[in-house]
Amino acid sequence: MSSNWCFVPRPCGRRRLTRLRLPLTAALTALLTVAALASAGESEPPGQGLDFAGIDRTVKPGDDFFRYANGGWLKSAEIPPDRSAWGPDEKLAELTDERNAELIRNAANAAPGSEARKVGDYYATFMDEAAIEQLGVKPLTQGLARIDAIGDRTALARALGETLRADVDVLNATNLYTENLFGLWVAQDLDDPKRYSPFLLQGGLGMPDRDYYLDPSSKMANIRTKYQAHIASVLTLAHTADAQRKAAAIYQLEHSIAQAHSSREQSEDVRKGDNHWPSTEFAKRAPGLDWAAFFAAAGLAEQRDFVVWQPGAVTGISALTASVPLETWKDWLRFHLINSESAYLPKAFVEQHFAFYGRLLSGTPQLRPRWKRAVSATNDALGEAVGKLYVARYFPPAEKARAEAMVRNLIAAFATRIDHLAWMAPETRAKAKAKLATLKVGVGYPDKWRDYSGLEVVRGDAFGNAMRAELFEYHRNLAKLGHPVDRGEWAMNPQLVNAVNLPAMNALNFPAAILQPPDFDPQRDPVMDYGAIGATIGHEISHSFDDQGALFDADGRLRNWWTKADFAHFEAAGRRLAEQFNGYRPFPDVHVNGKQTLSENIADVAGLSVAHDAWRLTLNGKPGPTIQGFNAEQLFFLSFAQSWRQKIREEALRERLVTDGHAPDEYRADTVRNLDAWYDAFGVKAGESLYLAPADRVRVW
Ligand SMILES: [Zn+2]
Repeated sequence: MSSNWCFVPRPCGRRRLTRLRLPLTAALTALLTVAALASAGESEPPGQGLDFAGIDRTVKPGDDFFRYANGGWLKSAEIPPDRSAWGPDEKLAELTDERNAELIRNAANAAPGSEARKVGDYYATFMDEAAIEQLGVKPLTQGLARIDAIGDRTALARALGETLRADVDVLNATNLYTENLFGLWVAQDLDDPKRYSPFLLQGGLGMPDRDYYLDPSSKMANIRTKYQAHIASVLTLAHTADAQRKAAAIYQLEHSIAQAHSSREQSEDVRKGDNHWPSTEFAKRAPGLDWAAFFAAAGLAEQRDFVVWQPGAVTGISALTASVPLETWKDWLRFHLINSESAYLPKAFVEQHFAFYGRLLSGTPQLRPRWKRAVSATNDALGEAVGKLYVARYFPPAEKARAEAMVRNLIAAFATRIDHLAWMAPETRAKAKAKLATLKVGVGYPDKWRDYSGLEVVRGDAFGNAMRAELFEYHRNLAKLGHPVDRGEWAMNPQLVNAVNLPAMNALNFPAAILQPPDFDPQRDPVMDYGAIGATIGHEISHSFDDQGALFDADGRLRNWWTKADFAHFEAAGRRLAEQFNGYRPFPDVHVNGKQTLSENIADVAGLSVAHDAWRLTLNGKPGPTIQGFNAEQLFFLSFAQSWRQKIREEALRERLVTDGHAPDEYRADTVRNLDAWYDAFGVKAGESLYLAPADRVRVW
């Protein structure tokens, strides 16, 4: 859900995934305080299951369901100063961070050499600010010296190859951005799903997306000026001479890279991305870079076949490595080495980074306290080791069993929906059922944990630990090449408040941290769980059957398994939903991109519908509860809309409108207008703002 992010026309998590490097933060207080929670002005009476006081009864449900369900809360809630947004997911993420911080601190006393001890040492080293200050820029010395030594284009290619990391992900975690020149994703091949392939993605930008370089608006122009100043400040902090001039050249280079980039929307189109290039063809198709040197330095000399996701960008960027002066490339490498690792450097670097990425780009006034950043960093480096500690303490077997039962109910309800789709041809229906039958659902945590025995964590070397962890993760991914595909591998940590569909693997992950109140609450009537986590489970299931899911068959092969007529029907429904979302305007100058957010919106409609069905099935003809004057149907939809309550800063929302595949939460809550049952539950009539005539309600599944 939130604090995290995931993206569009592809099956992906319920929310955006946290980008590992960008949102860092610097502050001192290690006080484990719940101040952030208390300051948000919330009160949820226990045992009721919903925030009834947060409902605004002066708003008509049919006019603005988000404000009806959340208006009272919106009036009193405040975004904590170290957050760009605030809602139940962020609050849950805070609680989970506090719990993890305690577990991690205790792990510092574990036996030397044990996995738990690595967790404790990683965190403690990150927390030791005095030691980091004392080291100053020393941790950069080796990396900068290697860049200084680059004497020709072959050496440049080698240096660029050495920066390649497994830091992007097209379909699962859906992170399309890296500051390195390219990013690597090792995943199931889309044409031959029994093997892994290396996917090469565009990169090289320090701002979130190519739009930040190319959009002509004055807002973006202002951000560009500030970015150039940020580059100069970072170089100056690292004692680089002539920082202003170098910053201008670096910016110019990135502008050229941005011009070569594919747009976010293009990058999400699987059919445009699945381009197989033999390694021998790179020099011909993308001349400029010494590819042999690049791949050798990246540990990929033996690899015969790559998937080039954005061929135009790879060609354009490769040409730039030959045409732009070597010195500019060296400055670009220097800047990104420092910028991407600022979190592990002295306070001045951390604050400079936050000033640009936090304060300016997301509008967040205050850096997160250091302990929270330390938890994030430890999660990045040793995610499943922390997850193992987390689930042992906070995810009891009874809750795992309860969640698994709910997933089974959702899948059964989805199967029934497939059976009753009047417009769908029998052969498509049979294939959909086959795909549903092979869906692999992970609940809480993976069956098999990752092995961190090869990762060296050195007490007192925060920067080195981060570098080693990134390299360890890269090698872990390279090691998959040539081995059978493991459908049990997870794309999210168990301690993350989110959920995800892995479309090619036809698998789902529901991390333990989302399976707790207020999404999943053993103390309340199940109708409210179905409206909250039930809709999320349905959302993730339906990603296997949305516009991207339709492209992958039950084995994960990129092959449209629909008849032409069925797919045309499906696409027409998608077009109507895209129009519906194009109509939402968070700001007068910008509307939601209905196409960019289509997969997620389809998943929301389908997820909510199937959750509603599944809940009805559990009643077995008995009536649901009435609580505080709301009947069970109303409770279901209120629970859904309250699960999407959120306050977000303007800058952060503007960034998400460009880079996120999800619509803003407010409009996700309004998904209800596509369900007949919502009209009955609240007596919504023609003339009210959210009213859709029955023919305009989008029903995909
Ligand atoms: Zn999703």
